[in-house]
Amino acid sequence: MILESFKLDGKVAIVTGANTGLGQGMCVALAEAGAKVAGVARRDCSETAKLVEAAGGEFFEVIADLSSTEPIERIVESVVAHYGRVDILVNNAGVIKREDADKYTIEDWDTVVNVNQKVVFFLSQAVAKRMIEAKHGGKIINIASMLSYQGGIRVPAYTASKSAIIGLTRALANEWAKYGINVNGIAPGYMATNNTAQLRDDEKRNDEILGRIPAGRWGTPDDMKGAVVFLASDAASYVNGFTLAVDGGWLSR
Ligand code: NAD
Repeated sequence: MILESFKLDGKVAIVTGANTGLGQGMCVALAEAGAKVAGVARRDCSETAKLVEAAGGEFFEVIADLSSTEPIERIVESVVAHYGRVDILVNNAGVIKREDADKYTIEDWDTVVNVNQKVVFFLSQAVAKRMIEAKHGGKIINIASMLSYQGGIRVPAYTASKSAIIGLTRALANEWAKYGINVNGIAPGYMATNNTAQLRDDEKRNDEILGRIPAGRWGTPDDMKGAVVFLASDAASYVNGFTLAVDGGWLSR
């Protein structure tokens, strides 16, 4: 039966940036579908743990700063030590720094590109190595953005890194499909989280953005649930290297 193939019972999922926003919503979604969840975050994930447990799931917290590749081995080792395996990786942690391009600093560039791009590649590599060794395949889901397709304003490093994510998703999908690893992306539209608090606080920008979204509303973490469960499940086993927009129609305008 088709709905059986969406179930994630017995699977172990790592979600980065699990303490808040879209990452928190995706942890709950994966748990509701049956997966055990390991949440990686710089900060305490107790709110996410409570939501996952209320959904009948299990949550394991890994505190790590993803601004460098340093914690990657420890993250993967601790999840495998705790749950015995890893089947799903959601590269969700991301950071945005807004500044005019002519004033953008090297520090801000490195901060954004390290979290959004470099660590996404090396964490994917570390997880894929486990999946290849264990010969059970897996699913890697990268969180892209509308700025994977558009230039944006005052966010050059964010746009560069999120545009890279779409290319990286394709490149890794090509290399790892032969191991039964599906690498895909989700491109959220304008979602009401910390990431967009500055935009929503600015009445003019808020109205401009809302006026351009065909669905007529900001997205929410709940809007990510169907897409992440689909791409994490056997239902998506012949979907490789594609980034699915969850954007209320923004890209169709
Ligand atoms: P958010 O700011 O609420 O969440 C970002 C998450 O990344 C947080 O958990 C944060 O702790 C984590 N993070 C950032 N730097 C980190 C670091 N150095 N180490 C560990 N964790 C770190 O925003 P969100 O909207 O939930 O963002 C989640 C993802 O979705 C990001 O990749 C973001 O770029 C992307 N996204 C968001 C929107 C939106 O409209 N909100 C749109 C497109 C893409």
